[in-house]
Amino acid sequence: MSDPTTPPITAEILDAICVAIEFAVQEYEYRQDEDDFVDDVGMGDDIKKAHQWLTAAAAIQQKAAPAAAKRHPITSAMYAEDPMYCPNCHTGDNLQPWNDSEYDDDPLVRPIRCGNCGCKWTDRLSLIGYEDLRDAKGEPITETAEDYTDADYAGPDGSAYPVYMTPSAKDLPPGLYITLWNGYREHVPLAMRPDDWGFNGPMIGPLDNVQTTYGQHLKLTAADGYSLAHYFPDRPKNDEGFYDLIVDVEGCVIHDGCRYGDWTVDYYAGKPEADTP
Ligand SMILES: [Zn+2]
Repeated sequence: MSDPTTPPITAEILDAICVAIEFAVQEYEYRQDEDDFVDDVGMGDDIKKAHQWLTAAAAIQQKAAPAAAKRHPITSAMYAEDPMYCPNCHTGDNLQPWNDSEYDDDPLVRPIRCGNCGCKWTDRLSLIGYEDLRDAKGEPITETAEDYTDADYAGPDGSAYPVYMTPSAKDLPPGLYITLWNGYREHVPLAMRPDDWGFNGPMIGPLDNVQTTYGQHLKLTAADGYSLAHYFPDRPKNDEGFYDLIVDVEGCVIHDGCRYGDWTVDYYAGKPEADTP
């Protein structure tokens, strides 16, 4: 550094050096995992040394970093809308994926490093579904209507809980009920669903209260002296003492292997079956 012909190492240069070394280290670690051939060609020690440089450089970088004006990080939601910019320094031209063995088993996490400010974070990805399903020979797997029977299109039969507009709902005590309808079986894909209003689902009640949180979480409380347990055989009360109904991304309520496009919350006065609400 005392040589006058040596240009000063700026924060940008130091950054670039750190990125280069880090990639070299990653490459080394990756190859070591693969087949240990790095040591065979004598590169191992050099890269290990590079690892030490990286640590040292990072320490210098930390000390040399100017006291930057405090910027608020971009929120996670803002970043998700436009993941091209560093959440910390807001620049968008130098984001690089990097390897972090901590996340090797999670395909929905992608570690990212900003080459501009050096900060790291992990992208949390969301799986929407799968595409292009093929069999072992590479042929597309398609389904036809013949692959489904009437049972795939039938609603709940009323034996476990009362179902709207069926005899099972005839003797319900008067009270407040949430009724699910416009239903289909979860396992039936969109392309295989009939173009109709689906089947009727449970009348859940009598209720004391229905609370909706964030438009996608319905919390039900039974009226005094009643239990909702038989409506939720595999889903006990949550920690807050509610029974839950979750609304999926398409706006359907999920219940007992079915999804329902509509729900109503009505006072049911105890009418005969033919006039149930
Ligand atoms: Zn940054």
